Amino acid sequence: MYKTIPKHYPEAIRITDLETKIITDLVQKKLDLKSTIWATSFCSDEVNNLFSPFYDLFAGPGPFMLGGISGLPFSGITGMKAFLSHAPSHGAVLVLYGPHIGISEDGKIGQVNRQNQFASSTCCGSLVAALESIKKDEHMPLDNPLDYQQARVIEHLHKNRSNILESQFPLKEATDSAYEAIHTKMNRILDIIKPELDDIKLYLIGGIVINTDWTIEDLFEVRNVEYLEF
Ligand SMILES: [Zn+2]
Repeated sequence: MYKTIPKHYPEAIRITDLETKIITDLVQKKLDLKSTIWATSFCSDEVNNLFSPFYDLFAGPGPFMLGGISGLPFSGITGMKAFLSHAPSHGAVLVLYGPHIGISEDGKIGQVNRQNQFASSTCCGSLVAALESIKKDEHMPLDNPLDYQQARVIEHLHKNRSNILESQFPLKEATDSAYEAIHTKMNRILDIIKPELDDIKLYLIGGIVINTDWTIEDLFEVRNVEYLEF
């Protein structure tokens, strides 16, 4: 792990350590991993396929993708209902969610060097672009079916615009704002669905994905853990 990450994300752990934590937690709760399915609400960026070591842990190929760009759960109530209806009988579901932020080895926040790229590129590209929009006090039309997700991301950052723009690290603050938006939406969606749930256990882990340069293992800073039984 390079120096910049502990400075900004002191609680960040390697993805393999997150995997160990999840296995330990589920076993302690006497949950059968092969009777557990998983979903994510992460940004569409292919860099977030870093959770591939999880593919063999759970039932089904997984994960169900609840998220769109930035990680907001754009699949909504319908997506969550569909996912929960796929849970094994007497089984459990795991949901991982949160925004992501790249930190390059030379310490640039919001950038990573991807495989076979000669220079770093933005990460999360959606949040970097949304940050530029709020700097210019710009909005995007929310009813454009070809780009409504980014319009929503911009509106979420506008809600915390002054804090973000006054921060020493605006993208980091924007990422925290995105986390709060994702966390709140996940809980609102679940609150609506909860009355319909029966014979199912939910294990939710929210946090910040910290993407590193291609050759270095990515990290995750856990922000919220919740376990619910119905
Ligand atoms: Zn992204």
